[in-house]
Amino acid sequence: MGFRVIYHAQVCPECGSRDVSTQDVPTGDGITETAYVCDNCHLAWPMACISDLDGPS
Ligand SMILES: [Zn+2]
Repeated sequence: MGFRVIYHAQVCPECGSRDVSTQDVPTGDGITETAYVCDNCHLAWPMACISDLDGPS
């Protein structure tokens, strides 16, 4: 079997802390995106790139 990425584990990729919370962060286009934020080192990284929004108009 190949590699398996376990995003739902919510472990910080930087420090490995499990003190991870979710937070809505602005992307700059007036859109907010849910991201993970590490409570230990405050690194933020995006959730899976799944968008429920309509495509560009
Ligand atoms: Zn961290």
